[in-house]
Amino acid sequence: VMASFEPFLPLPASLKHLEADTHAGERLFEILDAKPETIAPAAPLPFPKDPAIRAENLSFSYPGSPVKTLDSLSFETLPGDHIAIVGPSGAGKSTITALLMRFWNTPEGCLTIGGADIGRFDPEELRRNIALVSQRTYLFAQTIRENLLLARPEATDDELKKALAAAGLARFSSKLDEWTGQHGMKLSGGERQRIAIARMVLQNAPVMILDEATANLDGVTEKEVTETLAALGAGKTMITITHRLKAMDQYDAIVVLDKGKIVEQGSHEKLIQGNGLYRRMWELQHTMEPV
Ligand code: ADP
Ligand code: MG
Repeated sequence: VMASFEPFLPLPASLKHLEADTHAGERLFEILDAKPETIAPAAPLPFPKDPAIRAENLSFSYPGSPVKTLDSLSFETLPGDHIAIVGPSGAGKSTITALLMRFWNTPEGCLTIGGADIGRFDPEELRRNIALVSQRTYLFAQTIRENLLLARPEATDDELKKALAAAGLARFSSKLDEWTGQHGMKLSGGERQRIAIARMVLQNAPVMILDEATANLDGVTEKEVTETLAALGAGKTMITITHRLKAMDQYDAIVVLDKGKIVEQGSHEKLIQGNGLYRRMWELQHTMEPV
């Protein structure tokens, strides 16, 4: 099943009328309109200054599914921590993101930000404060400029160009008015992903989630963009989801997920000494991939 929550960006009200004539656009609107959990609580809390994230016995099943996609997860990040969530495809990594962005109804157990249950925030407020680059980026059939302004409507051209440069797309600076094409087809997967990264730079949110965010980039670009994002993430809470184990010693903690369960967590140094999934993933990748 293709996850239906991926095409996510907080849409400023002023842009909600945009004619989204792509399939992706339709799905985006379906998501925004159809989900009961996008209804704000009666007295929503402001997004906390110190956005520590904590899960305790967090479980979740997709509607209508008998399977527990997430099964009793407990982990936490301190404000400003950079953590990684790793594990095989289908482990449930992106589902954690979806719950944090409140694309789905309140799960079982506890999921808090700054000590407050996730359900106490207005979903729009959450999505303004949690910037997400996901595995797939959907562009509206509009210009590069409009696609970037979704992240910060008042941004100047200068700011847009800086964000493009930070995302390794400096050469798009002169193309702000270019049409991204039906389904964004004029852009490659890597370029679309870099547009999403430029949006993240513009959004400058206190929490950043990178869900396989650099997966479509070539090695050199990936390294540059990763460095940009790490700099942008300084002092912010950052969750990096990846199945490729690179530069893992930069994380304060690593959560290893397999079939919806946390099988290990700790520092790279600790996990590498263990004899679990992390060690196996590490060895597999470092024997099969050129270093
Ligand atoms: P990962 O990101 O680790 O690859 P996901 O969180 O995307 O894993 O998926 C975990 C499980 O949940 C998979 O079995 C996947 O098929 C299922 N799943 C993902 N999205 C949906 C959805 N929208 N509806 C139903 N099942 C889903
Ligand atoms: Mg995923």
